[in-house]
Amino acid sequence: MTHPFDALILGGGAAGLMCAIEAGKRGRRVAMLEHADRLGKKILISGGGRCNFTNLHCHPENFLSSNPHFAKSALARYTPADFVSLVEKHGIPYHEKTRGQLFCDRSAHDILGMLETECQQAGVSIFLNTKIREVERTSEFVARTSTAEFHAAALVVATGGLSIPKLGATSFGYDLARQFGLAIREPWPGLVPVLLSPEDCSRYCDLAGVSAEVIASCNGKQFREKMLITHRGLSGPAILQISSYWKKSQPILIDLAPGREVTAAFRDPATPRNPGALRAELRSCLPHRLADRWLDAHAPTSWTNSALADLESQIHAWTISPAGTEGYEKAEVTAGGVDTGELSAKTMESRKVPSLFFIGEVVDVTGHLGGFNFQWAWASGAAAGQAL
Ligand SMILES: Cc1cc2nc3c(=O)[nH]c(=O)nc-3n(C[C@H](O)[C@H](O)[C@H](O)COP(=O)(O)OP(=O)(O)OC[C@H]3O[C@@H](n4cnc5c(N)ncnc54)[C@H](O)[C@@H]3O)c2cc1C
Repeated sequence: MTHPFDALILGGGAAGLMCAIEAGKRGRRVAMLEHADRLGKKILISGGGRCNFTNLHCHPENFLSSNPHFAKSALARYTPADFVSLVEKHGIPYHEKTRGQLFCDRSAHDILGMLETECQQAGVSIFLNTKIREVERTSEFVARTSTAEFHAAALVVATGGLSIPKLGATSFGYDLARQFGLAIREPWPGLVPVLLSPEDCSRYCDLAGVSAEVIASCNGKQFREKMLITHRGLSGPAILQISSYWKKSQPILIDLAPGREVTAAFRDPATPRNPGALRAELRSCLPHRLADRWLDAHAPTSWTNSALADLESQIHAWTISPAGTEGYEKAEVTAGGVDTGELSAKTMESRKVPSLFFIGEVVDVTGHLGGFNFQWAWASGAAAGQAL
């Protein structure tokens, strides 16, 4: 069986759906080929089931890429306001949780339902349980499953990254890019909890569930948000954010008392210089169990001004050397991907292979936590959809 179309979109996730809608609205005959038994599975589990679908404060600085300028054009042409107006057109109730992060009031099903309705109205043909095994380029693109063949002049790869394999993540997009001679920036898991070294884990991991506001920094980047201790290491927004910048064998620095001078009280001669007084000061900044445990491992060497200054520095730069991360099983996103140098920033079309497009997470553009990854999926999807 063969199916003729103007464009084939491989992958029915966030980016593929937006691309299909835009192209369908412009009268293109679009086929969306998805190997799962339903579209947008990641949308459904996103944002704890409420889908943090965009961020009002979306700037190029909220994205990692080997080329920090690449995402600018698409992000400027399809903005958070554009997506919000679509959400409002469908009467979906939403709210701003914090720092510009927009979530559904009810459920992520609202966002997926909206995109499916838009696809239907745009006349997109959807093929589920359709795993593409190979793609060939003759006078047009041919995508083959074990039983069918799809033909079209244009092919859009929207197969996402490697995160959460149990939801259907595959390396297909990267493999296809390589097949067509496009360079790949080696992918790595981003927005992922980190594992503590065995020594640190035996010291802190029984405090699993304890959290504190910290500044986590690495590689010149820093994030002031919550850190959470887990059974195997550290998580929480501050750690997830910095994990995207972390490279193996590098330390992560954690300021345990942002903006506070924990030892200031000891300048007053009336304050006794002893472990109890110090414990009380640190407990005023951190959960008690974490303050106590941290001090057990970082007791001052003496009570001199210089030893206290030393301790103050350590509180603001607790240095951990993660043993690794929880990997793709737990990563919210895959960083790296198709080298942006290979693609037009305006349309996401390959420079080498005309009519071949890459959009969404498979591209080397990765958002911070907070709705930025979906905004990239919408923006890059719209850019390609308007060029098909
Ligand atoms: C737990 C979790 C929570 C998240 N929460 C948020 C959030 O609240 N806000 C936010 O901005 N981002 C969030 N993200 C990130 C966001 O989900 C992704 O960045 C986004 O879904 C990427 O969109 P995409 O279309 O590029 O890829 P995906 O959404 O991954 O879609 C790719 C699709 O391609 C299909 N596919 C793969 N290989 C093939 C093949 N060979 N043939 C056919 N189909 C194939 C897959 O089944 C999938 O449906 C979250 C991620 C996770 C894992």
